[in-house]
Amino acid sequence: MIPRTVFEEDHEILRRSVREFLLEEAVPHNDRWEEQGQVDRKIWLQAGEMGLLCPDLPEDLGGLGLDFRANAVVNEEIWRLGLSGIGWPLHSDIAAPYITRYGTDEAKAEYLPGCVSGEIITALGLTEPGAGSDLQGISTTAVEDGDHFVLNGSKTFITNGQLSDLVVLAAKTDPAAGAKGISVFLVETASDGFTKGTNLKKVGMKAQDTSEQFLVDVRVPKRNLLGQLNAGFGYLMSELAQERISVALGAVAGAEAVLEQTVAYVQERKAFGKTIAAFQNTQFKLAEMDTDISLARTFLDRCLELLVAGKLDAATAAKAKLSATEVYHRVCDECVQLFGGYGYMWEYPVARAWADSRVQRIYAGSNEVMKLIIGRDLLKG
Ligand SMILES: Cc1cc2nc3c(=O)[nH]c(=O)nc-3n(C[C@H](O)[C@H](O)[C@H](O)COP(=O)(O)OP(=O)(O)OC[C@H]3O[C@@H](n4cnc5c(N)ncnc54)[C@H](O)[C@@H]3O)c2cc1C
Repeated sequence: MIPRTVFEEDHEILRRSVREFLLEEAVPHNDRWEEQGQVDRKIWLQAGEMGLLCPDLPEDLGGLGLDFRANAVVNEEIWRLGLSGIGWPLHSDIAAPYITRYGTDEAKAEYLPGCVSGEIITALGLTEPGAGSDLQGISTTAVEDGDHFVLNGSKTFITNGQLSDLVVLAAKTDPAAGAKGISVFLVETASDGFTKGTNLKKVGMKAQDTSEQFLVDVRVPKRNLLGQLNAGFGYLMSELAQERISVALGAVAGAEAVLEQTVAYVQERKAFGKTIAAFQNTQFKLAEMDTDISLARTFLDRCLELLVAGKLDAATAAKAKLSATEVYHRVCDECVQLFGGYGYMWEYPVARAWADSRVQRIYAGSNEVMKLIIGRDLLKG
């Protein structure tokens, strides 16, 4: 393993405390969380007390003033332990930053302290039943009415969908103007006319509440408009780079963990009088996976450095998301094979990781969309 140079000693101290906390307070509850389809709100409040939510938020806004590497550490430890139900990365890395970057002073004062303490859980409401990859095709509308906007529409596949108190939500404010007619709002889920739909039954990530959300004449005060009217599409595009690094970080950490579990298993399990590890096929598979993970890890760490320096472009972030999530799923699939029938049993972490890894090639922009972004960047000259 090539030593990682992106982190400092403080990050490793943070990593140890996050891991210890998750082992004590999350791992023992994970089976129950899977059954109930969501984690307990308590774990969010505990995380808030420990400073694990939005750690990169500036101190003047109530955060710890660390940089995104602290978010990365929390994210990696969640995925290393297979705790895909814990939606802190979506909250800290993806949704809350919209408030920090585009929120009015009033909105920042009203919501950010709760985002840090865990009393306010955020979600990102982009996808709709009729529009996922093609965000210009959303049909939720927001119409000005005095000091408010009135929102109507529906969202689906929303991470933290049941637990969320506040949704960073995209809507059309000028339906005839395509991408130039989209705005982004902060919508409280307790608002009149806002309802949460079914907690969707998924193939993996079973402790994650992913759900539909519906809006009927929901009145949102104008101070909850993020940035400028009709400028939302640009904000979404620029924020997606961080979202993609967040997903990639979980993917590579998950892949490392699964490979580690497999290396241990194949040295124990025997067939034809030898360990599974003694077969050359096993050694070759392990070598291929380790090589793929090392390449993905090294590239991703460089992307993390660029992100922290404010220099990460959309195409490079897309390459990180594409490569990391493809590697994660390939590694999980090969590891399930090496575990044999046990690899298909839910009680084995490798089986859960395999199911969790599948969706990573679909969400945060599908991997086909990543290729579009990379291809367009190559051809733009
Ligand atoms: C577990 C989970 C959690 C999610 N969390 C959130 C969330 O928190 N917030 C949110 O807003 N959304 C969320 N999503 C939605 C996710 O981002 C979308 O599912 C994803 O963007 C794809 O959109 P779609 O499902 O509508 O597929 P479609 O857009 O219908 O795509 C179907 C297929 O066509 C391909 N395709 C589409 N366009 C092109 C093209 N131009 N060229 C080539 N191929 C193309 C896609 O890659 C895909 O393979 C989540 C989804 C899941 C499953």
